[in-house]
Amino acid sequence: MQTHSSQFDVIVCGAGHAGIEAALAAARTGAKTLILSGNIDTIGQMSCNPAIGGIAKGNIVREVDALGGEMAVTADVTGIQFRLLNASKGPAVQAPRVQCDKKAYQFRMKHTLELQPNLQIFQATVTSLVFSKGKVVGCKTNLDLEFRAKTLVITTGTFLKALMHIGQNKNEGGRMGDHNAKTLSNSFIEAGIQLERLKTGTPPRLLGRTIDFSKMQEQKGDETPTLFGFYDTRGKEELFHVEQFGERKLGWKPGTDQVSCWITYTSPESKRIVTENLEKSAMYSGQISGTGPRYCPSIEDKYVRFKDKERHTLYLEPEGRNTDEYYINGLSTSLPFEVQNDLIHSIDGLEEAQILRPAYAVEYDFAPPTQLFPSLESRKVENLYFAGQINGTSGYEEAAGQGLIAGVNAARRARGEEPLILKRHEGYIGVMIDDLVTKGTREPYRMFTSRAEHRLLFNHSSAELRLLHHIEAMNLVPPARLDRIKDKLKQIEHWQLWLEKNTTAGGSWGDLIRRPHTEKELPKEFEAVSEPIKKEVLLRIAYKGYLEREKKQIKRLSEIEDTQLPKNINYLEIKGLKKESATKLEEARPVTLGQASRISGVNPSDIGILLVSLKKKTFKTD
Ligand SMILES: Cc1cc2nc3c(=O)[nH]c(=O)nc-3n(C[C@H](O)[C@H](O)[C@H](O)COP(=O)(O)OP(=O)(O)OC[C@H]3O[C@@H](n4cnc5c(N)ncnc54)[C@H](O)[C@@H]3O)c2cc1C
Repeated sequence: MQTHSSQFDVIVCGAGHAGIEAALAAARTGAKTLILSGNIDTIGQMSCNPAIGGIAKGNIVREVDALGGEMAVTADVTGIQFRLLNASKGPAVQAPRVQCDKKAYQFRMKHTLELQPNLQIFQATVTSLVFSKGKVVGCKTNLDLEFRAKTLVITTGTFLKALMHIGQNKNEGGRMGDHNAKTLSNSFIEAGIQLERLKTGTPPRLLGRTIDFSKMQEQKGDETPTLFGFYDTRGKEELFHVEQFGERKLGWKPGTDQVSCWITYTSPESKRIVTENLEKSAMYSGQISGTGPRYCPSIEDKYVRFKDKERHTLYLEPEGRNTDEYYINGLSTSLPFEVQNDLIHSIDGLEEAQILRPAYAVEYDFAPPTQLFPSLESRKVENLYFAGQINGTSGYEEAAGQGLIAGVNAARRARGEEPLILKRHEGYIGVMIDDLVTKGTREPYRMFTSRAEHRLLFNHSSAELRLLHHIEAMNLVPPARLDRIKDKLKQIEHWQLWLEKNTTAGGSWGDLIRRPHTEKELPKEFEAVSEPIKKEVLLRIAYKGYLEREKKQIKRLSEIEDTQLPKNINYLEIKGLKKESATKLEEARPVTLGQASRISGVNPSDIGILLVSLKKKTFKTD
């Protein structure tokens, strides 16, 4: 084994959605970074559906953008259909979703990494980690090359000891047509990191010219697309920097030439085919032991769990502008190929459809995330960070959000700085990481608005404003953009005050805005402000009562949320604490009282006892 001459600050293993954001965040905050991937042609590959965003997930993408990440802009630039979901509902639950040109998305991400200063890309599969005195110091690869760094971020997705299933057919590998990571799991086990199994699946891909779209319902994109990126706070030079590199110019505006998706349904014949062949499915024959995603069920699961439902909705989604390949959303399965073929042909409009790639399920190792600190650093091995599907999550957006935080923190650790930790009331990324490290997960974790108790504060367009203090403290965006965000906030606060103070017939402008079902003519001077500012001001005024109530509650809880627990506190010695709670706290070792309060089995009276013990300093340490 030969050691590479360069010593890095951060090595990122894996170049999926988590790895990309981790590497960019580390490099952009000044760390000398290396990203290793078993196959650099699949950087940023969408393993499943070619879309970014959706309810709660879309809000994560906007948070990633606010924190200096790349997913939002790449999704916008390569987007082929844009929709704002829940557009008729309240702003807290609205979320953008964009159908992307899958290959264009990958190429742009690869090119973005290539152009990033401080970042080196190298194609190699990581086979094991190198430890020294309880710390990780590097990794070994299949090319007999060893790399050294101060910190490592693991973002290996579904690839660890992965097995793909189509009926009884089994193949090793994390994704069809990609490489295989067979040995890395052993390093984690050697370091005392526990691994468990999960599974996920993907539907077949079809050839567009063999689909009869006339039998389907057309689903068009929004006429006015809602983009993910915050372009009002970016300078021209920060817009689409990849496309403007060299001679390349962006020839079109994102969202101006959208394509359609198509809706169809399963038939009674589809139901018969699936139910009569259940025992041939890898998932139902006992061949797969891992737990699958509850909220993204396979077609087998749908017929078993919702027995009375006669038909299920399916969406035909184009995979790009320069391909005739279609993704069939809603038809994930691990049935044998011949059964998949019959199933496809039983669906309206797909009678003659040709399968380009079969559906399959994949089973893989994940590392239960309760083994991590809220910084995403391992509790077992110093300087080792985990992000993405390896932490038991599912979805590109969840992976990107974790990747960004892990990348920032790995870079900060390399410099000896304190980590970036987002709180639950600051955004979906904070909720997700707290859920993962505190409660863990037994099935692929996906974000929902219902997971966030303070979701009223999380409207997607406010991400930059909510996270401003972190953006500034951690230097996450260029200074010019930071100034623009600050200026935007100032203007919003100015107009909010102005509209509450100044009156019109029947009260203040604020009262008029809050009055339901009235024609709202706004003052001319306010009409002139920019759309993003106007939207946020109107939202803050219209929902003033609710938002204030939410903020008061956060303040009330802040004593518990913000109280740090000493690292080596001995819970078993705290008088009055139930034995069961003390054992759980010993095991979980929460960082704050807030985190302790969310551990299952630890109840409010335990938190009260802990608080008193901390205040009176009656606790003992190990
Ligand atoms: C078949 C399938 C179906 C899926 N279905 C869904 C779904 O229905 N809904 C959903 O939300 N999500 C689904 N997903 C998951 C989704 O793809 C992931 O959540 C997301 O891609 C996770 O991002 P990640 O960065 O953690 O990992 P990935 O995107 O998987 O990226 C992992 C990266 O690590 C690299 N890598 C792995 N091991 C090594 C190694 N040892 N050395 C070097 N590089 C390595 C890989 O090459 C890749 O670049 C599915 C995934 C698969 C494979």
